[in-house]
This record gives sequence, C-alpha cells and structure tokens, in this order.
Amino acid sequence: MVKDSITADIVLRGGLVIDGGGGEGFAADVAIAGDTIVAVGPALDAPGARVVDVSGLVVAPGFIDVHTHDDLICITQPDMVPKISQGVTTVVAGNCGISAPLLRFDDAVAEPFNLLGAREDFAYDTFADYRRAVEAATPRVNVAALVGHSALRVLCLDDLERPATTAERARMDALLRDALDEGALGLSSGVFYAPAWAADVAELQGLAATVAAAGGVYTAHIRDEREGIIEALREAFQVAQGAAESGPAPLILSHHKCAGVRNWGRAAETLGLIDQARQRQPVHLDCYPYTAGSTIIRPDLADGEVEILINWSEPHPEMGGRTLKSIAEDWAVSEPEAAERLQPGGASYFQMAESDMRAILSHPCCMIGSDGLPHDTLPHPRLWGAFPRVLGHYARDLRLLSLEAAVRKMTGLAAETFRLKDRGRIAVGMKADVTVFDADAILDRATYEAPTQPAAGIAHVFVNGLLAWTEGGPTAGRAGRFLRRAN
Ligand code: ZN
Repeated sequence: MVKDSITADIVLRGGLVIDGGGGEGFAADVAIAGDTIVAVGPALDAPGARVVDVSGLVVAPGFIDVHTHDDLICITQPDMVPKISQGVTTVVAGNCGISAPLLRFDDAVAEPFNLLGAREDFAYDTFADYRRAVEAATPRVNVAALVGHSALRVLCLDDLERPATTAERARMDALLRDALDEGALGLSSGVFYAPAWAADVAELQGLAATVAAAGGVYTAHIRDEREGIIEALREAFQVAQGAAESGPAPLILSHHKCAGVRNWGRAAETLGLIDQARQRQPVHLDCYPYTAGSTIIRPDLADGEVEILINWSEPHPEMGGRTLKSIAEDWAVSEPEAAERLQPGGASYFQMAESDMRAILSHPCCMIGSDGLPHDTLPHPRLWGAFPRVLGHYARDLRLLSLEAAVRKMTGLAAETFRLKDRGRIAVGMKADVTVFDADAILDRATYEAPTQPAAGIAHVFVNGLLAWTEGGPTAGRAGRFLRRAN
C-alpha cells in the first residue's frame, strides 16, 4: 500500500510518542509544518522535509513549568537556559501573589518582589506593556502570566496592615480585569507574605469571582504550610468556592507541602482534605521534587529544627552556601538573629519529609512547577533540575509513577488546568512544542552545592516548531510567545 505523502518541514522519525494524555507510549513519526504538528503516525512520507532520527528516544509535548517567578528574567535574559535545558517550553509567571507588571520601585525592590529582579527591571505601566515587552524579547520559551494579589495590594492600598476597603477592592478589581482582558491566565495570591497577610477572605473572594467569570484560574500560596495547614487549605477552598454566580474559580494549590518537622507525615491528611474538596469544586496542585523549599530569608522560619542553607545575602554575600546554624554559631547569636542580619536575602529550607513529597508528587491532580528562583546567585537546584528529576529519579529509578503519568503531569494536565489552548499534547493541530529525550539517560545534575548544571538526556527541544535546544546547547533562533488565556 502506498501512503499519501504530506507536506511538512520536519519529521521526527522513529521515536516513542508519549502524547501527554496519560496513555501508553506508541511508536510513531511526528511531522511539523510551521509552528504546528500536522501528522502523527507510522512511516510518514514528507518529501523534502528535514528528517530527525529520534529512534530510541521519547517524543513528548514540551514541558510546562506551571509555577515560576520568571516574570522579568524572560525579558532580561531571554535565552532561558535553566528551563529550555530541562525540556520546558512554557513557563507560567506571576505565582505566589508576586507579579511584576505595573510595579515600580524608587529605592530597593521590596520583599518578596526582589525574587523577580532588580529595580530597573520593573518597567511596565500596564499589563499590555508587559505583554508587548515579552513579545519583543522573544524568549526561548513561551510565557504565560498570572496577576499577583500582593502586587495589586501594593498598587491600591494605603495601608498594607489591614484588609482592603471597598474602594480599594474596586481599584484592585479594575486592574485585574484590565490584565485579564490582555490575556492574563488568572490571579495568584500569597497571603504567606507580608504585603498580603492582612488580606481577609472577602478581599480575595471578590478577585477570585472576577477571575471565575473571565474563565481564569486562581493559584494560592496558602497562609500556612506548617501546623496551621488545614485551616489555610480551608481558607483557599472558601476563597475559590465563594466566588458566586459564575461558579467556583478553578483553584491550584501552589507547591503543596507539609512544612516543618512537627508537620511531617501529614500528606495523607492534606491530600484527603483536597480529595474531599474536589467533590464540590475544581482543585489541582503543583509541586517540585525536592525536600527543601526556597524563598526569602525570614527569621520566623528559623525554628532551630529545619536546616537552612543561605543562597544569597545582600549585606553578607560571603555567606552564600553556608548553613544558618553555622553562621549563627560564628556570630554567637541565635538563628533568628543571624537571619535578621542576613536580610535581605534568599535561603533553602529543608522542611519537608521525603514520604510526604512523594505522596503529593504522585497524586493524580498534581502538576510539576519548579518554583525556581532565577535571580538567586546560588539557586535551589529545582531551577535547573525539577523536570528531569521527576522523569529520571522518581519515574525511572524509583518507579514512583509511570513515565506516561509523569509526562502527563508536566504537559497535558498542566495545559488543561491552566487553559493553555493548543499546548500540552502531541496531536494533529497542536502547536509544535516538542521535547525529545532519552528515557534511559534523563536525569537532573543540579545539586545544592553546584546548582547551575544542565540536566542529562534532553536531546532536542522545539518551541513553536523551531529547534530551540539540541546536543546540549541552545540554537541560534528563539521562538517563544506570550500565551494568552484561552476562553
Ligand atoms: Zn510560593
């Protein structure tokens, strides 16, 4: 039988397709024309197309990093090597209530916005300005963005120590609507952080209702991931659910974890509560595959039980890479006192139990988000390693989950949950974001000691049909786009 020939620019020949839907991998060629996948099937005949031999390799949708703080780095350093080198083709910025558009700083960048970049990087007066700046930078990966509740507060409240007034709520709502009109994916909140912790449920509910009506999502870095985690989860459910006529806002619990030694072993309880909530409202999770978290240096987190590794410190850069305990001993002060002296800065907190993290990672509604901090001088290794670590260490080596399930978490599930149209699947008509990897070799190489190492086993990465990474390095071209919310 002679098969019809097709018109394509590129054919990925002889790979094992794991399509992002969760089903078993199958042998097929994948043909790309322009920025689109035009055929998936055996022995595709595309005269004149460039053929890439991918035999022995997995052909998967490009990975979607649903939890990032790449808002500004995607403009200032558009090569995005920490992400593309992992096979990531789309990042979701603006998480944890922390987003960059509209914010300006006269002096030092206020915490926690300093996770995003330097003062001069905050240069966008509207969400549309920000979107255009991303488009002009043409990052190596696609960028989608959430609007941060903490940023809205800073922009609209006279006093951050109390809930918003009715007039302030209306101002925040207007800015949020404006961003949603320009394609923002939804709202993020981080009532764990100072600019937002005085917010009450009513303040958040109003914004969540606006997001729900617009068809967006609501992501939450909950108030307390330690002993108060159950109450904090209930608060997030309430905020998302109380949204009103348009129904609940789809909730994504950011970097779900049971933090603090006294909280270890509780993942079964929190996941049980989440499963219960899922009976009445849409809830998903994201997590990164490590037992340490990372954020700004906060003295209140220095509980003497959790080991804390200093990643950077503005007043004491020489302390990067040392533990808070050893610094406190040198200085003959308590750990909270040492933390105070090291501020502003960033740290990794070894605050999770491996068994809890594994239970969360393998939960069917959990996606993968690196939560990498691209500006840290000695970043948590998740910035360079999260995705290959899930595929290599947890799926292949420990068999915690199947390769298909792992790929689904970082592709199809992420695109569906965040409403990214045309992404997250290997199928005809989808955009050609494709990651080709060696399932036997894939592994993270970034460590706490040497965190800026590209992963092993990523063979080729295509973004919108353009080869963006191959043979261990970036290519000459970049083709990332700003992705608007699909309705
Ligand atoms: Zn967070």
